[in-house]
Amino acid sequence: MDLQLTGSRIIVTAGASGIGLKIVERFLAEGASIYICDIDRDALEAVKEKHPLLKIGVCDVADRHSVASMFNEAVTSLGGLDCLVNNAGIAGPTGAFHEIDPKDWDRCIEVCLTGQFNCARLAVGHLKQSNNASIINLSSAAGRFGFPNRAPYSAAKWGVVGFTKTLSMELGDFGIRCNAILPGPVDGPRIQAVIREKANAKGQTSEDFTKTWLSLASIKELIDPSQLADLVAFVASPLGRTISGQALNVDGDLQGLM
Ligand code: NAD
Repeated sequence: MDLQLTGSRIIVTAGASGIGLKIVERFLAEGASIYICDIDRDALEAVKEKHPLLKIGVCDVADRHSVASMFNEAVTSLGGLDCLVNNAGIAGPTGAFHEIDPKDWDRCIEVCLTGQFNCARLAVGHLKQSNNASIINLSSAAGRFGFPNRAPYSAAKWGVVGFTKTLSMELGDFGIRCNAILPGPVDGPRIQAVIREKANAKGQTSEDFTKTWLSLASIKELIDPSQLADLVAFVASPLGRTISGQALNVDGDLQGLM
């Protein structure tokens, strides 16, 4: 299937590793021009070495000054903008909500939710000039269910869904689409760390905890990040031109979180 993304100009936040990198590599395979920002300079440089065509910049999405200079550089080097993928997010603290450090609450909301606002507000002016404009925000199954001991993360990810649906309504008249992707547990080092912490808290092995967790899904497997990348590419492409305001679940039909 030709996704007609050749030459598309795309910014992916936190694109130096994890799901973001899978998305970047998928877009590269489609012939798109990509700018990635990340907070981790070493990871960015390693990715640039592997994919020399990528444009890169260090940026903390929670820092508005840093986002403003990143956007200037990104849009100038890409020659415009067709798609923003707001992928940056952190796990935040694990613990009962009344026992976590309020600074950890703030940081989680600032990166996972406010970071998307910081980027989207600067993207709009450029996206208005594109004829295939969209914003794709990474939420989570934690943006559809309660997630015990992960209150800031869950609150931020529910916030992402409200933000996405509102942007879709505000930006539709400018031809800009906005969608959220809600992955279940995605295979990779980050989810293994989350599983270890949760298993420890319950006095279980990681293996047993994973099995119990997946028993809550109809399709009992961790999500392959390349599936998310395929979905993001389709939604960003002209083939997805009437898909907007959606909270798209990729979670094996998960029925809850624990
Ligand atoms: P990850 O923890 O692997 O991190 C990916 C990248 O984010 C890293 O390169 C890191 O340096 C960068 N980063 C961290 N803080 C940043 C900041 N403030 N500014 C810019 N870059 C920053 O993440 P991931 O697992 O690939 O998740 C990507 C997105 O998908 C997140 O929004 C996450 O909440 C969401 N998500 C992940 C899972 C999962 O199971 N991994 C499930 C559901 C949703």
